[in-house]
This record gives sequence, C-alpha cells and structure tokens, in this order.
Amino acid sequence: MGGKNSKPDASKVIDGKAIAAAIRGEIRDEVADLKAKYGKVPGLAVVIVGSRPDSATYVRMKRKACDEAGIVSFHKEMPDTSTEEEVLKVVADFNADPDCHGILVQLPLPKHMNEEKVLAAISLEKDVDGFHPLNIGKLSMKGHEPLFMPCTPKGCIVLLERSGVELKGKNAVVVGRSNIVGMPAALMLMKKDCTVTVVHSRTKNPERICREADIIVAAAGSAHMVKKNWIKKGAAIIDVGTNSVPDASKKAGYRLTGDVDYDEAIKVASKITPVPGGVGPMTIAMLMSNTLDSGKRAIAK
Ligand code: NAP
Repeated sequence: MGGKNSKPDASKVIDGKAIAAAIRGEIRDEVADLKAKYGKVPGLAVVIVGSRPDSATYVRMKRKACDEAGIVSFHKEMPDTSTEEEVLKVVADFNADPDCHGILVQLPLPKHMNEEKVLAAISLEKDVDGFHPLNIGKLSMKGHEPLFMPCTPKGCIVLLERSGVELKGKNAVVVGRSNIVGMPAALMLMKKDCTVTVVHSRTKNPERICREADIIVAAAGSAHMVKKNWIKKGAAIIDVGTNSVPDASKKAGYRLTGDVDYDEAIKVASKITPVPGGVGPMTIAMLMSNTLDSGKRAIAK
C-alpha cells in the first residue's frame, strides 16, 4: 500500500462503523424519550419465509439492533411451504397491529410467491424498507417526499453528509441502476441538488464519465471496477459493492472487497468508504432510523 511518502491519509476514510454506531446511539436516546413521554416505543416486524442461512443471519442482526435501540421486534418465521395467501395474511395482521410501526419481508421469497404482490401489501405507513412503489414514486417526484427511503442508498447520503461533503450543485455519478441501490441513490442525490449521471452495463466509456464526478457512488457488484484513473482529484467515493474474492490467507477462503480499487483510489479521493466497514453497517442503522420515524409519526401525534 504505497511507498514511504505516499501513506494514505486516515482522515480521508469515512468510518461507516463509527457513524452507524453514533446514529444507533441517537436513536436509542430518542426511543427512550418516546417511552418516557408516551409510555410507548416503536415496533418492527420481520417476516422470514424459508430457511436460507444468509436471511437468518440478517434477521438476527436486525433483531440485535432493535434490542440495542429499545425498539420492540416481532418475528414471524414461516416454512418455505407456506402459501402466498398465508404470507399476505401475516402482513395484513401486522398492518392492523397498532404496536407495529414497520414491516419488513425478508427477500428473496420462495419462487412460488409473487414478491411484488407481497411487498405492495405492506401498508405505506409501515414500509420501512422504502420499496413500496408509491414511496419510490414520491422519491422521484419534485415537490413530494416519500414516507421512507430505502436503507442502503439512504445510508450512502447520510455518510456523505456526516462527513461534511457538500452535495448542492455537485456532479454525482452512480454506477449501477438497481431498484434497491443505484436507482434510489441517484434519485436521492438529485433531491439533494446534485447533477446526476447513472452508469450501467451498457454505458459507453464509464471511466470518462466517472472522471467528471465530484461524488461517485459505486454499486455495480464488480470487484475493483473503479480504478484510480477513473477518479478526479478530490472526489468523494462511496463504495456500496460487496464482492467476495478468493483469498487463501483467510480461514473462509475468501474476503469481501468493494467495487473501487480502494488502495489506489484513496491516493486521489478526498473521502472514501472502506469495504467492509463503510456502507454495510449503515443499512441496519437506517432501518432503525426509518422505524423510529414511523413510530414517532404514530405515537407522538
Ligand atoms: P444488481 O442488482 O446486480 O445491480 C447492479 C447494477 O450495476 C446494474 O444496474 C448493472 O447494470 C450495473 N453493472 C454491473 N456491472 C457493471 C459494469 N461492469 N459496468 C457498469 N455497470 C455495471 O446489484 P445491487 O443489488 O444493486 O448491488 C450492487 C452491489 O452492492 C453488490 O455488490 C451488492 O452486494 C452490494 N450491496 C451492498 C449493500 C450493503 O452494503 N448494505 C446492500 C445492497 C447491495 P444493468 O442494469 O445494465 O444490468
């Protein structure tokens, strides 16, 4: 990593773990205030269908984050032989439950279910994942605000803001246009008055486009795709990519790495997130933040 005169500057590193921990602490304080004032706390329901080990891990992490924040968590684990009607009934019950302020259906659902139908059944007021078409629609409309914004892209914006990166009037390039990261990230940056360009797999000359950017959000899922010579000096880089690459030195035989060639990029960037420890920890912090907002709307009205 660099010669003796080119040691990367630690102040350039956006520490997502520390920022997420600070946010979770602020949420815990606000939840305690709600409890003291109204005797009620926000509640989050997580519905998990089937037994995918990765889904089980995410659900465990979400439950722990709720416990730490003082948010009540409701869990409904269903076998993958469940019918779509049974899942819709569980969603309807949580929609009607006044103690539940957020509903999250862990994806992917088993193949025999229509994910779009299940997600659209979640009450708009409890859509803490921010994937309801109406919430996404409002995100894309001038003069409208969604009730919730999707957690991972929201985490990217909060990382930039908490790191003192000015957004207004800046050129932002988002690499990737998925429904869960790239597209909502681009819409959020536009709402923050950035001039936004979206790069995708059919884009010609992405390196030239990225070199114009003051801010790059990389969410392509392609290891080390964004190189040092793609980056303008002083640009801020948010790396959402989480790619596993073979690494014989690790017990697991692999390690996680981002879409950005971090060791080289840090030499020209003004700010950059590492992988892991950048965007990753923000996703659950934003889920807690969305659940708190929903709880406040329902409890403190
Ligand atoms: P996705 O659904 O596979 O979408 C990838 C997007 O990147 C697509 O729009 C694709 O273009 C574009 N793309 C792929 N290869 C490209 C290339 N070589 N050049 C330009 N564009 C390219 O992925 P996703 O769900 O958005 O996730 C993106 C990455 O973020 C993944 O590594 C994922 O693991 C990570 N992620 C992290 C978190 C977190 O940290 N909490 C959360 C979610 C996702 P087309 O549309 O043309 O196919």
